[in-house]
Amino acid sequence: MRRVLLLLTVLAVPLAAQGPILIKAGRLIDGRSAQVQTNVGILIDSERIRAVGPLAQVQAQAPNARVIDLSQMTVLPGFIDTHTHMLLQGDVTSEEYEDQLLKQSIPYRAILGARNARIALEHGFTAIRDLETEGAMYADVDVKLAVNRGEVPGARVFASTRAMAPTGMYPIGTPNWEIDLPHGVQTVDGVENARLAVREQVQHGADWIKYYSDRRYYFTPDSTLRSWVNFTDDEARAIVDEAHRLGHKVAAHAIGSDGIAAALRAGVNSIEHGDGLTDSLLDVMVRNNVYWVPTVTVGVHVVPRGGPWPALVALERRVFGRALRKGVKIALGTDVGGFPWTEINQAKEFEYYVQYGMTPMQAIQSGTSVAAALLGQEQNIGAVAPGLYADLVAVAGDPLRDITELQHVRFVMKGGTVYLSTQ
Ligand SMILES: [Zn+2]
Repeated sequence: MRRVLLLLTVLAVPLAAQGPILIKAGRLIDGRSAQVQTNVGILIDSERIRAVGPLAQVQAQAPNARVIDLSQMTVLPGFIDTHTHMLLQGDVTSEEYEDQLLKQSIPYRAILGARNARIALEHGFTAIRDLETEGAMYADVDVKLAVNRGEVPGARVFASTRAMAPTGMYPIGTPNWEIDLPHGVQTVDGVENARLAVREQVQHGADWIKYYSDRRYYFTPDSTLRSWVNFTDDEARAIVDEAHRLGHKVAAHAIGSDGIAAALRAGVNSIEHGDGLTDSLLDVMVRNNVYWVPTVTVGVHVVPRGGPWPALVALERRVFGRALRKGVKIALGTDVGGFPWTEINQAKEFEYYVQYGMTPMQAIQSGTSVAAALLGQEQNIGAVAPGLYADLVAVAGDPLRDITELQHVRFVMKGGTVYLSTQ
């Protein structure tokens, strides 16, 4: 990864500044269609795609366009990871988590966050929904601003700032009541405070609102995954209602069936993790158009924690198959930050989805057009189509034959600017 960085600084500015660009795509997977197209021209004007079609036809529209030859490659839309934590660097143990909150300043953590936004981009993820800063306040919005202003290279960031949980239900906790330790979320109690917290987070730049629906996961003898619910129904409904009233969507961390049911009663837009989804809860998700973000990569990574985690991973795999058959909308999300950004490529998540029963094309759409729909960004990202941002990646092989190809992107463009090219 680090070897290509030199290339980035050389390429980023010149290609963006030179007028229309014609990409010759040997094969195109556009993110929406199930069909692969061959010998395609993609014409790019400044930040956006102007035309997509048969190469000769598109080339005739702009004979003087600068050509980028990807005729030996498969071109896809930039990937979207809908569950990340830029401000976190792995927390398999509570010690790792507490070290970051207690021994690192927020400015230091924000510097790592900017690095992580760049790592995402280099892995082909041109957009991320960052689902809370774990005690780093609104620093995700600062990273987003720096990326949008071109100060640092990085994925497009959809930020959710601090997230919410009630008093005593989210780390860091300590038996020593003489010390006031920082918490990984904004502490919120009561309906009026819930509305106030949503307003504060939106004021400071939150695109999404996130709250923690449950904790303390356990299995009953019939293998149902249960949990303790954090907020009262009135509190959770107040969070969701206020967010929706202000034009923002809500993501709920919900692992056990109790926490998932409570989040669905409250009217959230996405269930994060969702290991304990039952058939009836899956039906509610289909009926209410609620998206599921499985975050398999982090689940596999934290198996060494022991406790319920190995059984959670096995359960989620079974749930995944049932969700597919029922037609639940599954948006790709990894929970990177729960595992180190520097050690595991986020595109590993595509591989799990294929192992769990998706076709490679379904997995690709999960991380492109479906993720864009969850974000309400279908007009901007998640597909290779006229009018959308020119967010593109290319791989050397055929990801429909070998999904792990997506872990080796050779070319990354975001908004018409090339950030990676290792042809
Ligand atoms: Zn997370």
